[in-house]
Amino acid sequence: MSQTIGSGARDRLRIAIQKSGRLAEPARALLTSCGLSWRESRDRLFCYGESLPIDLLLVRDDDIPGLIRDGVCDLGVVGRNVLLEQDIAVRREREASVFRELRALGFGGCRLALAVPEGWEWRDPSQLAGKRIATSYPQILQQWLDGQGVQAGVVELSGSVEIAPKLGQADLICDLVSSGATLAANQLKPVMTLIESEAVLAGPVAAFDDARGELAELLLRRLDGVLRMRHSKLLMFRAPREAIPSLLPLLPDAEAPTVMQVEGSDGLALQALCHGVVTWQRLEELKQAGASGLLVLPVEGMLA
Ligand code: ATP
Ligand code: ZN
Repeated sequence: MSQTIGSGARDRLRIAIQKSGRLAEPARALLTSCGLSWRESRDRLFCYGESLPIDLLLVRDDDIPGLIRDGVCDLGVVGRNVLLEQDIAVRREREASVFRELRALGFGGCRLALAVPEGWEWRDPSQLAGKRIATSYPQILQQWLDGQGVQAGVVELSGSVEIAPKLGQADLICDLVSSGATLAANQLKPVMTLIESEAVLAGPVAAFDDARGELAELLLRRLDGVLRMRHSKLLMFRAPREAIPSLLPLLPDAEAPTVMQVEGSDGLALQALCHGVVTWQRLEELKQAGASGLLVLPVEGMLA
């Protein structure tokens, strides 16, 4: 590594992602689909950007907001749950946010939820008064309790939160849930969602005042193209001219289709970019309405 982390020229952008864990691979894949590539360093904590001056720092997800706050990293891919938790802590201290969510990235989906022992009959949050709630997200939980006007004990645990009720450390928990299988395995049931989370691109509130500003803008433009195209498909088919009025209503999510005359016949060739899901059912309906030679193509990116 020739460059010192945390100092030196600021003409390169530095993005922190999780080193290993749920967000690590999807974050790297997303950045790769934005055209970034890196020369791997041997320790793999710092990856030097090759295709663009955008480097990667591989860290624990919990460290990402702090690295952005301290200016060690410019951007980071982190769960909204982690960003929000640390944002509340910062705001309590400084009364203003230092980082912000730039884009929701569509992976790492989960929710921060209250879960109670299966035997509990849940009615409403007033039941929480005087109870002890174990969580790794004390700030989000406390803010929510304050908003509900409920006084409860917050027991901060860094891991294995779901076992706390069984161990007698707490009466219920506030933890991340995706499928709910871990809760069920611990005889708990989710009763209330505090926040919906997913991986986000986070950055500082303050704008970059050097070359990093343009690099960040370039990355955001590419990211928007990739995110927008994620579920999009290019649909190509042929149809007789008179079928067009019955075909168009089947493409409500498509941008205005390109229509071409087929050489030597009065048939048309159509090309439509669909932003919704193109199901088999939809293809069959198009066929019934007169379309033939249907082709569905994936779209890798788009520059509007
Ligand atoms: P690290 O070693 O980086 O601190 P970690 O154990 O804190 O790793 P992971 O378990 O990989 O982190 O979770 C990272 C993020 O994945 C969470 O902060 C959350 O945003 C998201 N996530 C999605 N589904 C779940 C889930 N079922 N449980 C926990 N996190 C989830
Ligand atoms: Zn973590």
